[in-house]
Amino acid sequence: MTHDTVTPDDLFQCQTCGECCTGYGGTYVTEKDIENIATFIRTDKNAFVSQYCRMSGGKPLIASGPDGKCVFFDPEKQCTIHPVKPKMCRAWPFIENILKAPGNWNLMAQACPGIRTGFTSEQITACVRQELACLKKSRGED
Ligand code: SF4
Ligand code: SF4
Repeated sequence: MTHDTVTPDDLFQCQTCGECCTGYGGTYVTEKDIENIATFIRTDKNAFVSQYCRMSGGKPLIASGPDGKCVFFDPEKQCTIHPVKPKMCRAWPFIENILKAPGNWNLMAQACPGIRTGFTSEQITACVRQELACLKKSRGED
């Protein structure tokens, strides 16, 4: 497989196991995420942050429930805020951090069964750039 023929779908196919919705330091939400989610669950931004987030280093993270899963995770439906799920969840595993440290791709694969390995750093970063550009466009951030 050449550099040009590898697509994001070659690198990742979600297995809908729900593992990524478990704790691990929490899910960071941007201002836009807060606005979108608050509207979706019909509350206001402050109420969303106080009821569904916890602060870490001055930033809001979506809280976990007693089972360690994100408070918006449902075992049957999976993500109950799927249409407005945070940028971080939407991007996974094509996250910006990979552009700085492509080696993290293989580490992430140990926790996420949808991530495939065996690709070069160039192939991985090209796909991450491509997916981040699509995400940015879909969220109206360009
Ligand atoms: S851990 Fe990976 S494969 Fe499982 S639901 Fe999350 S993204 Fe999909
Ligand atoms: S917001 Fe949705 S996709 Fe993101 S961690 Fe919570 S349940 Fe999972």
